[in-house]
Amino acid sequence: MSIRLLRSSSHHQCYRPRYQAFSTTTRWRWHTSELDGEKMKSLKVHRDRLMKDIHHTAQWGTGERWGKASAETGMSRLALSDADKSARDWFVKTTEELGCKTTVDAMGNIFAVRPGQKDGPPIYAGSHLDTQPTGGRYDGVLGVTAAIEMLRVLNDNWVETEYPVGVVNWTNEEGARFPISMVSSGVWSGSIPLDHAHNLKEVGSGTATMKSELERIGYLGSTPASHEAIPMAAHFELHIEQGPILESERHKIGIVQGVQAYRWFTIHVKGQDCHTGTTPFNVRSDALLTAAKMILQSHRAATKHGALASTGILTLKPGSTNTVPGDVKFSLDIRAAADKTLDALEQDLRDDFALIASASDVAGLNTHGTPGLPCTVSWSTDSISSATTFHSDCISCVEAAAKVIFGDETEKLTKTMTSGAGHDSVYTSKVCPTSMIFVPSKGGVSHNPREFTSEEDCTLGAQVLVGSVVECDRRRVRG
Ligand SMILES: [Zn+2]
Repeated sequence: MSIRLLRSSSHHQCYRPRYQAFSTTTRWRWHTSELDGEKMKSLKVHRDRLMKDIHHTAQWGTGERWGKASAETGMSRLALSDADKSARDWFVKTTEELGCKTTVDAMGNIFAVRPGQKDGPPIYAGSHLDTQPTGGRYDGVLGVTAAIEMLRVLNDNWVETEYPVGVVNWTNEEGARFPISMVSSGVWSGSIPLDHAHNLKEVGSGTATMKSELERIGYLGSTPASHEAIPMAAHFELHIEQGPILESERHKIGIVQGVQAYRWFTIHVKGQDCHTGTTPFNVRSDALLTAAKMILQSHRAATKHGALASTGILTLKPGSTNTVPGDVKFSLDIRAAADKTLDALEQDLRDDFALIASASDVAGLNTHGTPGLPCTVSWSTDSISSATTFHSDCISCVEAAAKVIFGDETEKLTKTMTSGAGHDSVYTSKVCPTSMIFVPSKGGVSHNPREFTSEEDCTLGAQVLVGSVVECDRRRVRG
């Protein structure tokens, strides 16, 4: 199988931005070690240039129209589709024109590296260019385009970093076409086997696999998808919040400390089918009524622990108007910032559900009702994801970058927060220092064509991203 790479090797020789006509005798204006607070302020992100990239790349995989303005369409750029290939080609061409060398790994992850004074693992900024089938213009795309804008800002200001800096585009973050989210950063970090990822079949009736589609669009790279083959000194990811907190509390930047833990269970409640007309309440083993009490109690207990509990799947048997159901299964998804919070919540729920199944009263659930006969309850665990804690050094770089922009207003305009959703940064954080920067999502809307973040907020986020990477590079030489 021939692999169509998108560049000739001659491009690799020219690391420095061609349009500025650097030669080997060119003196750089700044080294990052010289960029203290005031000079950092001169590294300005260009709002129009950033927004142009966001909207320009939306031509590949344009989704549903929701308004009249030209940018008021969503995105439908599924991983490894023709549209994704076009966006990838743009990524490679753009970063190479800005002086980077690009590498594609065996999962189609693309790494673009701008050299520094010294050799060593680069500090990366990036995210993903794939979207949900009915997604918006900002999820993932903002993080990649802002990282490309970082390259331009460094070039504009003739900054030579101490070590290389890079931009990364991760493959199939959404898990929408190939049904494991963050699968390619997962392989790179050593958490998911390559074969398993390559053999993932697309959802729906198609027969394509990740590997066949990587080959088809020319992005099955020859470099192993591994943090050992492609090391990172650090990973910074700018992303839209995808929730309502920053907007509603009037903060501009979320300084993300980690990603919350979650556990998924299936709860099976067994009672006894009986006639709805002839069976008095006190002799029923009503599995659905029992499950309903459990779901309500999971909401109350999660509230008490500052966690979340949700049920999204409910199945019952036999499913007849005049039969009390004797067999009910429901999903239970619990989430919290810390594993120990989930430990406590899960223990409370196991105790409470056992009592509820035994027909005992828990927290007044039987008040004004009629206790029935016991049911049985059993739990099975479907999925566990531990809490991710980002690296304090990276978080501190983000804080420092925000401080340069916001000064005395930093506390008012930034918020320390935990991500409710998973991101590629979950996997990078397993093998290299990582943190994330959030910007507000209008109305908290995401995975929707109407997903929106203002130009001002996109620009501020990109500015914090640039500052974070430069600060991290400065600290590498200071030790
Ligand atoms: Zn995303």
